[in-house]
Amino acid sequence: MRSSSGDPGSGPGNHESSSEEDVTHATSIAVWDLTSPVVVGHRPTLKVGVSCASGCRLSGSAVDVCDDRGDRVAAGRLGSAPWPATAALYWVELDLAAPEREGDLSLSIHATPTLPHADATSVVTVVVSRPPDHRVTLRVIDKTSGAPLPRVDVRLGRFRAATDEGGIAHVDVPGGPYDIGTWKNGYEMASTTVVVAADTTIDLELTAAREPDQPYWM
Ligand SMILES: [Zn+2]
Repeated sequence: MRSSSGDPGSGPGNHESSSEEDVTHATSIAVWDLTSPVVVGHRPTLKVGVSCASGCRLSGSAVDVCDDRGDRVAAGRLGSAPWPATAALYWVELDLAAPEREGDLSLSIHATPTLPHADATSVVTVVVSRPPDHRVTLRVIDKTSGAPLPRVDVRLGRFRAATDEGGIAHVDVPGGPYDIGTWKNGYEMASTTVVVAADTTIDLELTAAREPDQPYWM
């Protein structure tokens, strides 16, 4: 009788898995592109990707999303092609039911691929806000030259924007108090607070960082 040892390439159909072993493939789940901010009465979207550690094709696997009360707010199935530049991250974009109240919302995303794959769960927490009702205009200039500063990252609370070529950014927000912060390479960060109760324009002056190449952190 011929031994098959040393002949791993003995043809298709020669699976190594043993029916006596209960082998489960580990899976992992990723969630991205969640609408931000999430607004009461508007349907957010998110993308969910699931991959098998062994790179199996997971197309068609069920994915569902439940809120913190256990109500299902979205369901779908993984698509036919992996996410670009990944080997085997199968994904789907889901529309969620519109949240009805503001505040923290915990979403449990659950994937149930077929055997031998383990289920996978991810929980994300989002803040649901009232619809924006005021426009905040930010005008950002260089403190020394007075010139408008483009491409400054601006943050109002959780809302983010960047200035245009004229140094201007618009952010639509619900009324209330906000911390404002800026970030631009080569400039010191500026911060202030504002209570937004109407459409508002805010002027910010940024100071060039004195030693941008300082090789250590304070
Ligand atoms: Zn697998």
